[in-house]
Amino acid sequence: MIETALIAGGGVGGMSAALALARLGVKVELADADPHWRAYGAGISVTGLSLRAFDDLGILDEIREKGFVGAGIRLRSVAGDVLMETPPVPEDAPPVARSGGIMRTVLHEILQERVRAAGVTVTLGAEMTGFEQDGSGVTASFPDGRTARYDLVVAADGIFSKTRSALFPDSPKPQFTGQGCWRIVADRPAGLDRPEMFLGGPVKLGFNPVSRDKMYAFILEHVPDNPWFAPEEQLGHVAQLLAPFGAYVPEVRAGLGEGSLVNYRPLEWQLLPAPWHRGRIVMIGDAVHATTPHMASGAGMAAEDGLVLAEVLAAHDDVEQALAAFTARRFERARLVVENSVRIGEIEMAGGDQRDANAMLGETMHKLQQPY
Ligand SMILES: Cc1cc2nc3c(=O)[nH]c(=O)nc-3n(C[C@H](O)[C@H](O)[C@H](O)COP(=O)(O)OP(=O)(O)OC[C@H]3O[C@@H](n4cnc5c(N)ncnc54)[C@H](O)[C@@H]3O)c2cc1C
Repeated sequence: MIETALIAGGGVGGMSAALALARLGVKVELADADPHWRAYGAGISVTGLSLRAFDDLGILDEIREKGFVGAGIRLRSVAGDVLMETPPVPEDAPPVARSGGIMRTVLHEILQERVRAAGVTVTLGAEMTGFEQDGSGVTASFPDGRTARYDLVVAADGIFSKTRSALFPDSPKPQFTGQGCWRIVADRPAGLDRPEMFLGGPVKLGFNPVSRDKMYAFILEHVPDNPWFAPEEQLGHVAQLLAPFGAYVPEVRAGLGEGSLVNYRPLEWQLLPAPWHRGRIVMIGDAVHATTPHMASGAGMAAEDGLVLAEVLAAHDDVEQALAAFTARRFERARLVVENSVRIGEIEMAGGDQRDANAMLGETMHKLQQPY
C-alpha cells in the first residue's frame, strides 16, 4: 500500500481523491494552481450518482443542509404549461434515486473544509511544473523550486490538463460541440420543488433549486461559430434568450440586473483512451473524461473516480496493477457519460425529436444508477 500521494488539482475530483486516500491512512498533499482555490460557475445539478458518491464521501448531510436534495423532474412547454411530472419517490429512497442542486462555491467550501479537517496538506498557487519517476516513486517539482517525492501522483487538473499533455502528447484535444452554456442564479419561486426543463424552445432552458431560497438556470444555446461574448453584453443576451418562456421566467428575467451572476462556457468534451496512467502517475476527472452538462454527472463521475482509486489501491499491492484496474473499472462508465451527453447535444442542435434525447437520457441514467 502506498504511504504518500500528491494530488495535483483541487476540484471535485482531486478533493474526493484526497478524502478517500486520507481515509486509508495515506499522507496526502493536495496542490492547486489557483492561489485562491476558487470555484467557477453558478449552480451545479447533482444527479443520483453524484449524491451517492457524496454520501460515500460523508458529505451528503451538508449538501442537504446547504444545497437542495429532492427527487424527480418536471417538464414544461415554452409557454410554461406542465407537460410531465415524475411520480414522487418514497421518503426512504436512497441517494442514488434522488436529485438536487447546490451552488458550486458552496460544494467546494464543503469539500475544502473536509479536506483540511482530514489532515491533507494543502498547497495553493502550486502548479506541478515537472516530474520524474522510477519504479518506486515520483519526484514532482513546483514553481518555487521545491521538489518532493511521492509514492503516487494523482493528476486531477481538469479538462485542459497539462499532465495529460506531458504524459500523452498525442492524446486527443478537447473538442467544441457547437453549444454554449449560460448559467444564472435567481430567487427560487414557491412551488419549484424539483428540477424543471422547458422543452421546444429556441434554446434548452432548465432550472434547479440550489438552496431553500435560490435556484440556478442553465440555458444551452446553439453557437456553431463559438463566439466570444464580451462581459458587458452577457446580461442583455441572457435576457433575450429567456424572452420566449412563460411560467415564472418573466419574473426571473425582470430580476436580472447589474448584480446578477451570469456565467458562460462553450461546451467541450474529451475522452482519453485507456490507460489513464503512466508509471505511478494517474489522471482522474475531467483530465481524462470531460463531458457536457447534458447528464449533469461530470462532478459525480470525478467524485466516483476518487473513491474507486482508493478502493483499487487498497486491493492491490502493486501500484501499477492498481492503476490499470482503475482505468479498467472506470473507462466504460466514462465513455457512456461522455458519448451519450455529446449525442444528446447533437440531437438538440439538429432540431431532432426531444423524445429521442429524453429516452437516451433515461436509459443512461438508469445504467449509471448501477454500482460504480
Ligand atoms: C458549463 C458546464 C456545466 C456543468 N454542469 C454540471 C452539472 O450541473 N453537474 C455536474 O455534475 N457536472 C457539471 N459539469 C461538469 C463538472 O463541472 C466537471 O466534470 C467537474 O468540475 C470536474 O472536476 P475535476 O476536479 O475533474 O476538474 P476541475 O473542476 O476543472 O478542477 C481542476 C482543478 O485543477 C486545478 N489545476 C489546473 N491545472 C493545474 C495544474 N497544472 N496543477 C495543479 N492544479 C491545477 C484548477 O485550479 C482546479 O481547481 C459542468 C461543466 C460545464 C463546462
